[in-house]
Formats: sequence, C-alpha cells, structure tokens
Amino acid sequence: MTYFDVLIIGASASGLMCAIEAGKRGRKVIVLDHAAKAGKKIRISGGGRCNFSNYDISASNYLSENKHFCKSALSRYQYYDFLALMAEYQIPWHERQHGQLFCDRSANDIIRMLLSECEKYGVTIQLDAHIERVYKSIDKSNVDTLVDTFVDTFVDTSNAENSSTQKEEFSVNSSQGHYRASSVVVATGGLSVSRMGASDFGLRLAKQFGLNIIATRPGLVPLSYNIKDRRKYQQLSGIAVESELSYGGQYFKENLLFTHKGISGPAVLQISSYWKVENNRMGESIRIKLLPELDLYSWLLAQQVQQPKVLVKNLLSRKMPRRLAECLCQIHAFDKPVNQYNLSELKTMSDVFQDWHFWPDGTEGYRVAEVTVGGVDTNELSSKTMQAKKVSGLYFIGEVVDVTGHLGGYNFQWAWSSGYTAGQYA
Ligand SMILES: Cc1cc2nc3c(=O)[nH]c(=O)nc-3n(C[C@H](O)[C@H](O)[C@H](O)COP(=O)(O)OP(=O)(O)OC[C@H]3O[C@@H](n4cnc5c(N)ncnc54)[C@H](O)[C@@H]3O)c2cc1C
Repeated sequence: MTYFDVLIIGASASGLMCAIEAGKRGRKVIVLDHAAKAGKKIRISGGGRCNFSNYDISASNYLSENKHFCKSALSRYQYYDFLALMAEYQIPWHERQHGQLFCDRSANDIIRMLLSECEKYGVTIQLDAHIERVYKSIDKSNVDTLVDTFVDTFVDTSNAENSSTQKEEFSVNSSQGHYRASSVVVATGGLSVSRMGASDFGLRLAKQFGLNIIATRPGLVPLSYNIKDRRKYQQLSGIAVESELSYGGQYFKENLLFTHKGISGPAVLQISSYWKVENNRMGESIRIKLLPELDLYSWLLAQQVQQPKVLVKNLLSRKMPRRLAECLCQIHAFDKPVNQYNLSELKTMSDVFQDWHFWPDGTEGYRVAEVTVGGVDTNELSSKTMQAKKVSGLYFIGEVVDVTGHLGGYNFQWAWSSGYTAGQYA
C-alpha cells in the first residue's frame, strides 16, 4: 500500500483545485478518477467555453438547506483569485450578460491550467481508477503496520486521538492500486450526465460513514409538458421569447425556449432548480410572464383607440413571434378585432400572456440536467474546512455537497472555492 497525505476522489473542478492547494502546502497528494480523462465536465461546460465564474457571486445565487453554509468558502476564494490564476497562464476570457465569465477560446484552457498546476506541485493523478473500498484503519506504530479495523460505518475516533501511538488513516482499494492516506477528499460531483463520469459514489460513501444526505433531484434542467399541454403547445417548438418566470418566491427574467417536449432556455433552467413535482398537487404552478417589459393590459386598451379594427392576434404578433401569438389566441378563442372586447375580457387576455400558469409533468432528468440539487447535508460539514464533523480526515467538496448554484458560472465558482478551502486543511 502506497501512502499519501491526501487522497482525492474525482479529478475535475473541485478535486483538482483541492489537489493544487494541498500540494502547495507540501502535502503528498494523489487524485483518483474512474474516467479515462480528467475534467470531462469542464470540457463540455458553457458550450465548450466554460462559464468558469461570475462577477456577482453571493449566497443568494445558491440553493442549499443551509443558505449560509457556502459563504465562508466563497469569500476565501473569489472570482478574481481564479482570474489571477488564469492570468498566469495567459488564458483570455470575456464577460457576457449577467456578469458571466467565459473563456475566449476553449474550456480546454482551464483543464490544461489545472493539470499544469497539479504537476507543478507534485500531485499524482491516477485515471481509470475504479474504487472498490474506502475504510478507516488504525496505524498502531505510526509507521507501516496496519491493524485493519474495517468499518462500513463510522468508527468513533476519540480513542485513537488520545493515543500517541495510534493514528487513524484511510485505506482505499482501487483497480489501480491500494493506498493509505490521512485525509480523503470526496470530489465526485453530482448525478447528472453519467456519460461524463457522474456517479452516486460520493453519496454512498457519505452514507457509509453515517452522514445525512439531502434528497437529490435534477437541477438546471428542461421541464416537460403534461399530455394535455403537449398536444396544445408542441407546435411552438423552436420559439424563444423573453419571459419572466416565477415559482416559490423566485423570479428569473431571461429567454424561454419552447421545445417539442416542453420548455427550456435560461429562465426555465433557473426556475427548474426550485421546482418540485410534489408541489403540483398543492396547486403551485410556475407562472410565465411573456413580454415582461410591457404592461399588456394598458397596451391593449391603447390599441382599442389607436387600431380598433385590427384582430388581436395580428396586434400581438407585432410584439412576439407570430406563431406564439396565433397559437395562444386560437386556444383561447381570441379571434375578434380588439375593439370588440370589454375591459374584463381584455384583462383575461392579458393574463393569458402575462400570468400563464404552467404545470410541468416532470423534468428531462439527470440525463440532461446541468446539476444535482441536494447532496451531502451541510450540517454534517464544517463550512470553514469542508471536513465531516463526525469523521476526522474526511472532506466533501463541489457538487456532491448540498450547495447548488444558479446558471451563470456559480457552480464552477463553488467547485473552486470549496476545493480551495479543503486544500488548506486536508
Ligand atoms: C453540460 C453541462 C454544462 C455545464 N456548464 C457549466 C458552466 O458553464 N458553468 C458552471 O458553473 N457550471 C456548469 N456545469 C456544472 C459544473 O460542470 C459542475 O457543477 C462542476 O463540474 C462540479 O464540479 P465537481 O468537481 O464537484 O464535479 P465534477 O466536475 O462532476 O467531477 C466529478 C469527478 O468525479 C469523478 N467520479 C465520479 N464518480 C467517481 C467514482 N465512483 N470513482 C472515481 N471517480 C469518480 C468523475 O469522473 C469526475 O471527473 C455544467 C454541467 C453540465 C453537465
């Protein structure tokens, strides 16, 4: 068995950042990953350009059972720290709308940078490593003799800490070798997009050590029509329109894209992280406001004076894609000129477009979701170190933790920040 100070499981955003920081402290570090390449999700992120951070990072951009948990790590390593690292490697980048920061060239620039830093600090990266077992054992001599006390669940460490001759260590068996380490950092990410290496390993390991898990669900994911809506709205497939979506007290004003299965686009992805299918039963719908910058009711009133004889669908087609205006007018039988509607009918009409109650049937699932909401319960971890409170030497970072960012570079910033933080202590 080869000994390392720090063994990290997961060679992607959070794991590599943690490895670099631990390596800088002179720790002997190994990173294991079951994939054949490091940083697979980084490579496909942001349409290949990696939206690596955002100018506006705050706890309000994250979902978590404990909204305060992410603050400490996010403040210790910020977007400008990552930009400083990119500057060392002369990686060009640019800002897009909503403060989103992207690579100019390719996400590969980020991967190369992280791997170069790992090399600089002597980090070993072992790919194609399938982990068979992780357990805690006691090194009685403090040298090499392992007295194996295999555990499937957490073992109280207090006796070991009181003894100067007994030191607790982790043992990790993998298809590429067996290792001992005083710290194990779990950076195995979320459940989404399994073809990119995603697995539930981190959650299973947390359970093995007695840590609570917050129930997981796909986030940043398209929402599907119910059967009735599918028949009505399928014809809108391909239309994108600015909208404001609200649900559970959250509001997002961005594009909404109609697909043949349901709705997608940035506004929908954002709201999807908050949406829970069980709330359908309680009658909580997603509310869609088309033309969010326009007071549609007042505008329709004005049209009654300015263009009284024009059909409503033609008027609305001047403000939104014709196909969308015609479809909604047809469904709601708004087939007359605008001057033939009374005030209450105009109010109903404006509500159809600006207070549309939408009940999704579900999401398109982990196959296409960008993130996983939920994960290792933050109550089980120290926000200052990312170490499990009950299991000394065991750390969880990145998406496997119950901290999920909005769309816009927030998830990578969490990966960098939590990885950096654990790297100072592991
Ligand atoms: C299509 C897509 C686009 C995205 N675009 C963006 C974006 O532009 N901006 C943004 O902020 N976020 C984006 N995200 C989210 C972002 O990629 C993740 O939040 C981030 O990668 C999480 O980093 P992580 O290190 O925690 O986990 P991951 O990057 O998922 O890495 C986990 C690593 O652990 C390894 N692993 C998993 N299970 C095991 C196991 N059993 N044994 C060994 N190794 C294992 C995996 O192979 C992987 O290398 C995107 C996600 C997707 C799917």
